[in-house]
Amino acid sequence: MCGIIGYTGPRVARDVVVAGLRRMEYRGYDSAGVAIVADGRIEYRKKAGKITNLVADLEANPLPDSGLGIGHTRWATHGGPTDDNAHPHISADSRVALIHNGIIENFAVLRAELEANGIVFTSQTDTEAAAQLLGREVSAGTDLADAMRTVCGRLEGAFTLVAVDAAEPH
Ligand code: GLU
Repeated sequence: MCGIIGYTGPRVARDVVVAGLRRMEYRGYDSAGVAIVADGRIEYRKKAGKITNLVADLEANPLPDSGLGIGHTRWATHGGPTDDNAHPHISADSRVALIHNGIIENFAVLRAELEANGIVFTSQTDTEAAAQLLGREVSAGTDLADAMRTVCGRLEGAFTLVAVDAAEPH
């Protein structure tokens, strides 16, 4: 069972999110990741294995301070436990980062549709189809909340999703 967390507020989101992931470690997971929005951009780190691997990467390649972030511990269902398959998943235009708990049953149909429109996937997960769909919606001018409602209407399965939009950090 994975863990999923989002934070917005006055504290350093990176640190709040990593502390939250540690509190959910007991649930079991195979990889972990964090994404923040800073200066109008998504920045992220994600690693297979224990949260200590992610923390080591964050120490070697620090993320800037920011008040908005999301984090995930993954229990792989679609695609092996690799760095690329770890969450967050980032839309092709790097505007949206998304994390997911659950299974998207119709991901293959959605992926084929997006690939036919020129989107290049970087993972084997079901989750990335939701991230790319959401990226396409916000790029078309829909605000993040409405875009999420539209995307959820297209998904079949069981899913909890959290996402951030670099162009709409509020
Ligand atoms: N199905 C997703 C994946 O394999 C999410 C798994 C989870 O809930 O951690 O990446």
